[in-house]
Amino acid sequence: MTELIPTPIIKWTAAETAGAIAKGEVSAVEVAQAHLDRIDAVDKKVNAFLHVDTEGALAAARAVDEKRAKGEELGPLAGVPLALKDVFTTKGIPTTCGSKMLEGWIPPYDATLTGRLKDAGVVILGKTNMDEFAMGSSTENSAYGVTGNPWDLSRIPGGSGGGSAAALAAFEAPLAIGTDTGGSIRQPGAVTGTVGVKPTYGSVSRYGLVAFSSSLDQGGPCARTVLDAALLHEAIAGHDPLDSTSIDAPVPAVVEAARMRDVRGMRIGVVKEFAGEGYQAGVMQRFDESVELLRELGAEVVEVSCPSFTLALPAYYLIAPSECSSNLARFDAMRYGLRVGDDGTRSAEEVTALTREAGFGPEVKRRIILGTYALSSGYYDAYYGSAQKVRTLISRDFDAAFAGVDVLVSPTTPTTAFPIGERADDPMAMYLADLCTIPSNLAGNAAMSLPVGLAPEDNLPVGLQIIAPAMADDRLYRVGGAVEAALNDKWGHTLLEEAPAL
Ligand code: GLN
Repeated sequence: MTELIPTPIIKWTAAETAGAIAKGEVSAVEVAQAHLDRIDAVDKKVNAFLHVDTEGALAAARAVDEKRAKGEELGPLAGVPLALKDVFTTKGIPTTCGSKMLEGWIPPYDATLTGRLKDAGVVILGKTNMDEFAMGSSTENSAYGVTGNPWDLSRIPGGSGGGSAAALAAFEAPLAIGTDTGGSIRQPGAVTGTVGVKPTYGSVSRYGLVAFSSSLDQGGPCARTVLDAALLHEAIAGHDPLDSTSIDAPVPAVVEAARMRDVRGMRIGVVKEFAGEGYQAGVMQRFDESVELLRELGAEVVEVSCPSFTLALPAYYLIAPSECSSNLARFDAMRYGLRVGDDGTRSAEEVTALTREAGFGPEVKRRIILGTYALSSGYYDAYYGSAQKVRTLISRDFDAAFAGVDVLVSPTTPTTAFPIGERADDPMAMYLADLCTIPSNLAGNAAMSLPVGLAPEDNLPVGLQIIAPAMADDRLYRVGGAVEAALNDKWGHTLLEEAPAL
């Protein structure tokens, strides 16, 4: 490093980090150690990590350095550290899904996504905190304590992937992985001032992703820049024969799109329904400015109506719990993790019941009960059947909208990060955090959240949501890259540089 005061390694983007390692300006081991030291210094306050794999991270970094020493070619993310949401299986490393139910479970296999990261030479630092089984919007439903938002530790970092987003914002890792069933990548991204992408459903393998709602769950990239998210997207996406819903088609050229920084000629639709009551004034102010910016950058902006989107939330809260009630039935105390009351006097059924009582938290129990009810005979058509019909209407709204525009935009969330505890006892208020993100899960298309400034009333980050048709994920990166570049030019720095030091 030739600068007099070098930027600390932890502040580098993933692209810069990989470049510096490839050129030999820094070793992968030094990079890994810098991040492990950072975790050591701040994670007692942030609680982004449930498990830090110091030895594994250093071994992976050493392997990258050895490869380089032998003159072998390194991939675009070789040696870059990453924080992995604790919902993906990792061979030999605990995977808890934020639940007591899986305490002590060591998976015997890697998720496809985990394997792809390892093959790319990405250095997995550890597993991040999350709402139990990915149900929640604040990480308050984790059985292992809440994560703090690095902008203000008394506020939520979003959920369910709050740990991954907080790790980025606290400079504990330049890359992270999340999963998005109803917004769990985008909403944490929005409230922490980071970038989060839900790729097209079926484009990132779900093999080894512990299932919550299988028809909605999708893994995806989290990063501090649009280009970094694109690099990670290309590393994890692509067909996997081990996932029956995996799409067998080429991955859209997202890295190329992130580098374009040009939206001239694009048609952008503003979703009319995502405004009004319940939307924080400062969030709408930053959103309106982003729309104006897109116009200045040469896009054509029109207003679009998607009337069925107002039904998305209730439909989601029937479909997701229904699928969860079936998926979570596998936690029977016999196969994974926790087993309570197995003292030789009780039947298997009693042990299963005692284990579920002790192992699942209140929100997970609520969802299982809701889902079981919605699927019960006599109510199936009224609840689950109706919700599936709404799902079709939402897809049709998207189809009609995308006939006239290339992407849709909206705020990612109605409000900025709320105080820890504020919505903990009010499930409805909690569910409203995903009002704008859920339609894309129900339709299976692609969506991104990227930071567009701070709300004036509380100085907390605001996210812009961009939505593209299925398998047109590249459009997210084209628009996101252009907005990010224009804002950084305007501010003279990135948004996270305004975050208070931890
Ligand atoms: N907050 C939503 C829920 O609680 C979404 C969760 C997610 O995307 N995993 O279900």
